[in-house]
Amino acid sequence: MRANRIATRIATMTLAGAVALAGFAAPAAPQEVELALVGGSVLDVNGGTLAEANVLVGGGRILAVGPDSPPDGAEVLDVAGKFVLPGFLDAHTHADELSQVRRALESGVTTLRSASVGSYRDVAIGRMVANGHLAGPDYLGAGIFVTPNIGEGRLASESLFGAASDLASEADLRMLVRVNAENGVRVIKTRATERAGLPDTDPRKQVFSEAQLRAIVEEAEALGLPVLCHAHGDEGARAAVLAGVASIEHGTFLTRETLELMAERGAALVPTYTTLVDLDEPGGDYDHPVLTLRADFMVPRMAETIRMAREIGVRVIAGSDTHYGPESVSRIGVEVVNFVKLGYSPIEAIRSGTIYTAELLRVADETGSIEVGKEADLMVLAENPLEHIAAIQDVVAVVSNGILAVNRLPFEIPE
Ligand SMILES: [Zn+2]
Repeated sequence: MRANRIATRIATMTLAGAVALAGFAAPAAPQEVELALVGGSVLDVNGGTLAEANVLVGGGRILAVGPDSPPDGAEVLDVAGKFVLPGFLDAHTHADELSQVRRALESGVTTLRSASVGSYRDVAIGRMVANGHLAGPDYLGAGIFVTPNIGEGRLASESLFGAASDLASEADLRMLVRVNAENGVRVIKTRATERAGLPDTDPRKQVFSEAQLRAIVEEAEALGLPVLCHAHGDEGARAAVLAGVASIEHGTFLTRETLELMAERGAALVPTYTTLVDLDEPGGDYDHPVLTLRADFMVPRMAETIRMAREIGVRVIAGSDTHYGPESVSRIGVEVVNFVKLGYSPIEAIRSGTIYTAELLRVADETGSIEVGKEADLMVLAENPLEHIAAIQDVVAVVSNGILAVNRLPFEIPE
């Protein structure tokens, strides 16, 4: 009897194997609805329209968007009169502590892309989310900054211990990309110019040649990793675009010619304008008189670059460039509002913080819009952002990977 049962199991397994070979996927078990956002106006971010619908969520994914009511037993969030949008993606962050990613989540961010942090903490947090220990945000790690001086980054992996403090050879740069890949990064961060956020650096100054940048891009793309490249000065940025980077981060001094080249090559611009404004104003992540002096001329120049990018057809993407510390005032909602102030329509600006970012990060099959089958990454707003863009900063609930992670509804006063 027992032998018979085993024989039957083997026969079934063989049949299953044959079916799989023939190209049929095993039928997925019907997913149970666990959470429902009921009665809200749901944004179709691609079409740019709002329509009243219920969003049914289960197994971390969107199961239905439409008139269907949730079954008994599902958790119901009444969002009547509210607006349901895809969660933000932040294309440029340096968050490396749990309290920081929590702050990002509370502002509506359900996916973070690292622009490099120390010791693979971005990768570690990303793994915690992927393994279900945290609701989110999903975190695409960049690991160690591919920069001429990797400093303490050398201690992040034993393979890097012997790396030069003046990283310049193409072989070393390729090695650093491979070590990052071995450690589970999803993107590579490099830079073509010096930084703006330190008083002693010159943001116009180029630090890597086109050949060095090409070595980085070739190695990364062979591993399926897009390269994001910090650049303020035009010469460095141009070299990076010619080398094939996926995005230029900041791009303050980009010329029309380089922006045209970016449009031609499909490279995106992640200006992180809000952080440059922070450099110029008291408080926030940066508060230094030399940086204020510098930002006085950089802010209007970057505003002009962002307007030119729109006119030329370069994709402009929202990134906060903050670590979401307790003093931070940079948020994706603020960046989206700033894009509207710089001439973008509300829906264009919202796409820059959602679906366009998902495309740049190569995760558009998974997130970035409210569609059946995608991850349930959602935010709820109190007012219509298409009519009043500042409403995008008033996030009243956040669902990340199907979990109601933030809920400020229904504003009941506790007894
Ligand atoms: Zn940065």
